[in-house]
Amino acid sequence: MCIFCKIVNGEMSANKIHENDDFLAFHDIFPKAPVHILIIPKEHIENFQSVSPETMAKMTPFIQEVAKILELDENGYRLITNNGPDGGQEVPHLHFHLLGGTKLKWPQMAEDAAKKAL
Ligand code: AMP
Repeated sequence: MCIFCKIVNGEMSANKIHENDDFLAFHDIFPKAPVHILIIPKEHIENFQSVSPETMAKMTPFIQEVAKILELDENGYRLITNNGPDGGQEVPHLHFHLLGGTKLKWPQMAEDAAKKAL
């Protein structure tokens, strides 16, 4: 069983901030911004590439609600999902990183890759 499924079933603890029957939001243990939340479906879905449009339709308002709870809805935030090995996905359970609480820089890695692609 993956670590996020263990958080869902209570085998592992997490600093939860919001949940409903289908989704859970909790603090990332290694925050990369002043606010770094992970938002997951409770059902085990491997990644964004395999999520259904129906699940995304329900997940979108949940993510927006989390941003409001954190009072990030006005100043903004960044939403990231790492998909598969090249995307840097470490935990094979769909999750969105919600980052905020400061003016975020665009990742250098992405800028370097974009320059090479030109
Ligand atoms: P990713 O690289 O996109 O798969 O991101 C996985 C994220 O999960 C990383 O940012 C980790 O810091 C985070 N993480 C791993 N284990 C835990 C945990 N037990 N509780 C909270 N966050 C975790």
